[in-house]
Amino acid sequence: MTTPATPVAFGLASPPAWSCVQCGACVSGCPQARPPELSPRRVLRLAQLGLREQAARHPFLHACRYCGKCLVHCPQGVEVARILRRLAFERLVIWY
Ligand code: SF4
Ligand code: SF4
Repeated sequence: MTTPATPVAFGLASPPAWSCVQCGACVSGCPQARPPELSPRRVLRLAQLGLREQAARHPFLHACRYCGKCLVHCPQGVEVARILRRLAFERLVIWY
């Protein structure tokens, strides 16, 4: 079995994910965020850096309710909830 070697395999390199500029607007609109550590921005940054295991194990993935408010606030149109869901799935199938 081949383990995916790049974020591309999990869609993390799609234009919406990589267009995140770390502005923090999603954090201010997120009812579950407790910055600086517990925030979608922090998870996205880890994913952008290719730190997949750290991103997939981040405690914010347990807090996210996939409500989609982050997408409404994001000036870049980043599909944050979709990315977090994908990471949560990755955590289950690979890292646990
Ligand atoms: S609002 Fe969008 S661009 Fe800004 S930090 Fe959040 S995901 Fe990134
Ligand atoms: S989908 Fe998750 S990250 Fe986005 S606003 Fe809702 S709880 Fe926060």
